[in-house]
Amino acid sequence: MRKRIKVLIAGAGLGGLTAALALLKRGCDVQVFEQAPELREVGAGLQLSANGLRPLYQLGLEEALRALASEPSGKEIRLWNTGQTWKLFDLGATSVAQYGYPYLMFHRPDLHKVLADAVRALRPEAITLGAQCTGFEQDEEGVTLKLADGRLARGDLLIGADGVHSQIRGQLLAADQPTFSGCLAWRGVIPMDRLPQRLQRPVGTNWVGPGAHVIHYPLHGGALMNFVGIVERGDWQVESWTQKGTHEECHADFKGWHDDVHELISNVDVPYKWALMAREPLQQWSFGRVTLLGDSCHPTLPFLAQGAAMAIEDGYILARCIEKYESDPALALKQFEVARIERTTKIVQRSTENGKRFHNPALASADGAAAYVEREWAEPKVRERYDWLFRYNVDEVPV
Ligand SMILES: Cc1cc2nc3c(=O)[nH]c(=O)nc-3n(C[C@H](O)[C@H](O)[C@H](O)COP(=O)(O)OP(=O)(O)OC[C@H]3O[C@@H](n4cnc5c(N)ncnc54)[C@H](O)[C@@H]3O)c2cc1C
Repeated sequence: MRKRIKVLIAGAGLGGLTAALALLKRGCDVQVFEQAPELREVGAGLQLSANGLRPLYQLGLEEALRALASEPSGKEIRLWNTGQTWKLFDLGATSVAQYGYPYLMFHRPDLHKVLADAVRALRPEAITLGAQCTGFEQDEEGVTLKLADGRLARGDLLIGADGVHSQIRGQLLAADQPTFSGCLAWRGVIPMDRLPQRLQRPVGTNWVGPGAHVIHYPLHGGALMNFVGIVERGDWQVESWTQKGTHEECHADFKGWHDDVHELISNVDVPYKWALMAREPLQQWSFGRVTLLGDSCHPTLPFLAQGAAMAIEDGYILARCIEKYESDPALALKQFEVARIERTTKIVQRSTENGKRFHNPALASADGAAAYVEREWAEPKVRERYDWLFRYNVDEVPV
């Protein structure tokens, strides 16, 4: 009988778990090593467009995801000071009709749990917790993963799915050289029943203004509202999900903005702040029997809401490559890189551009602002910016 290929995965985030599930479904032996002592995700929101949901539905998660998601009827653009509102696009049935899959909003821990449960249902011992990966050695026969406590694990392949501060990338490539984007992201969740009715509508809202923007959308079946406020500010450069700020500081960053924005800020449970760092797209991320996926190889600014979607697409396509080229692991990983690099590089670049659009100085004056929104968010332009993203089909990408 042919020996099953053994894949080691560093990191049990959304990308690592998607890869694990897709590989288990294709008959591979998989072991995931997660540094955290328990499986958890930060209590923030996440939008997943059709391209990110397609792989998860293909992996059999539709029912579990539907039960926990919120499905907005559409997205709106609002002007920072007057609150004037424009439709960005319809979601709901329109997303399904156009792209075959919906556009859903998740509380991150919900999505993470669905993936972890699905992995464990196929292989209960697939995820090792409290396992901090520090490096690896590869040879002709396989790869050895090193853990901080001295343990070693041996497999045929290693996937570094260990996020933006990846140790595996650190060994494959020269030290990471992030540059501060000049933006700070405020984020937090709000119990929906604290908000006035007018703010409880099931839509995704994107406020745009000079030097800042705000995004909010419902989560967890509508029980929570996610809040993200991005502001150009140079005095905070810590890239972490767990750094707390204060409501006063957040209000001050949106001085002069519409009352609805301040109503949201006042009701955020805990306002966290995250410095947004930018990184140049990599030219290569597969080296012999070791590859990277998700934020470890193409971290992005969040202005297209595609970071997790890319990590999920990666996990699915990587599994296709490993199955197809099982007898030549290095070729499998190279094919994965070839299949993904052009799209992910384009997303990283377009995401940076979108941030400039959201914060344009033209938004400062009342007349200029309305004209700017009508021009930049005219339907053909919106279609040009999003259609190629949402249409992507992980089963049809040549590998
Ligand atoms: C403000 C903000 C809003 C965002 N909104 C969206 C959105 O709406 N939609 C979207 O698609 N994306 C969004 N993103 C991007 C998204 O959060 C990331 O792209 C996504 O989480 C990347 O997944 P990942 O699995 O690659 O990495 P991560 O989610 O970072 O997972 C990495 C895992 O590896 C573990 N790990 C790290 N180091 C080690 C180690 N040495 N050994 C073992 N384990 C290790 C970590 O503990 C973690 O569990 C947003 C990002 C930000 C900052």
